[in-house]
Amino acid sequence: MDFQLILDEIHAELRPRLDQAGTGAQVARYIPALARVSPRQFGIALRTCDGTTAQAGDSAVPFSIQSISKVFSLTLAIRALDEALWTRIGREPSGSPFNSLVQLETERGIPRNPFINAGAIAVADRLVSLGDANAELLALLSRLCGEPIGIDAEVAQSEADTGFRNAALANFMKGFGTLDNEVTTVLDVYFRQCAIAMTCEQMACAAGYLCRDGAHPLAGTPVLSAAQTRRVNALMLTCGTYDAAGEFAFRIGLPCKSGVGGGIVAVVPDHLSLCVWSPALDATGNSYLGRQALELFVAKTGLSVF
Ligand code: GLU
Repeated sequence: MDFQLILDEIHAELRPRLDQAGTGAQVARYIPALARVSPRQFGIALRTCDGTTAQAGDSAVPFSIQSISKVFSLTLAIRALDEALWTRIGREPSGSPFNSLVQLETERGIPRNPFINAGAIAVADRLVSLGDANAELLALLSRLCGEPIGIDAEVAQSEADTGFRNAALANFMKGFGTLDNEVTTVLDVYFRQCAIAMTCEQMACAAGYLCRDGAHPLAGTPVLSAAQTRRVNALMLTCGTYDAAGEFAFRIGLPCKSGVGGGIVAVVPDHLSLCVWSPALDATGNSYLGRQALELFVAKTGLSVF
């Protein structure tokens, strides 16, 4: 398959829609630093299991990975704790907004899954207990894509200044005993992981272990076992795209993880990993053009887990 041609076609088809007038799509407004990002950007990149790359549009522009970081923090936690992680975090789609408090009360402080904010904060708490969580995460990402990866300090500060709901989630869980560490320490780790900046090209490479049964995309060494990798992919498919996970499975049929920065990473097991980014979000919080790009990709290639 000529993936470069396919990405060029997708880019050419979506470029005229960059203006997005009348669609209601808009950049995330609740984090001030993200509200300032221009919506008129679109990038896509992929890397196959044999190392072939393809990219189009703004694929080399760094963006705020936000909740996509949850895939990699989960990877670190699974690697260190394996089964023990699941005593504090569930594995069911939430059916509620990603920052909802409601289920935490009925489910006694155990977040529904690691990809909603409460779940990722609980994962961050586990990583804080194990060492320098942000440094470990940056080291993992840098190794996975072979380039130094860093945190956008302005975005991190903006999150800390406005993260009242995340603070509520963390305090609520602390009250139930789900968090072992100080709420402020855990939140600092969480805000900083969300503020990591990467390009589509870097992200497409970094996610490569998810399509290779856990093998490092560049070195081939194990990042996760094949069984652990299947679990991460299963969680991405069922819980990775906010309240649109059913619709994503229906229309796209790939494990995906979205972030409110407008990025979506997707995995075609045994074939490739790809990342698409366009900052304006639809009503479900997923990238408006990113979702269309993934639909086009699946339609053109026939690649899907189903
Ligand atoms: N930093 C964002 C928050 O905690 C991440 C949300 C997301 O990308 O889903 O609200």
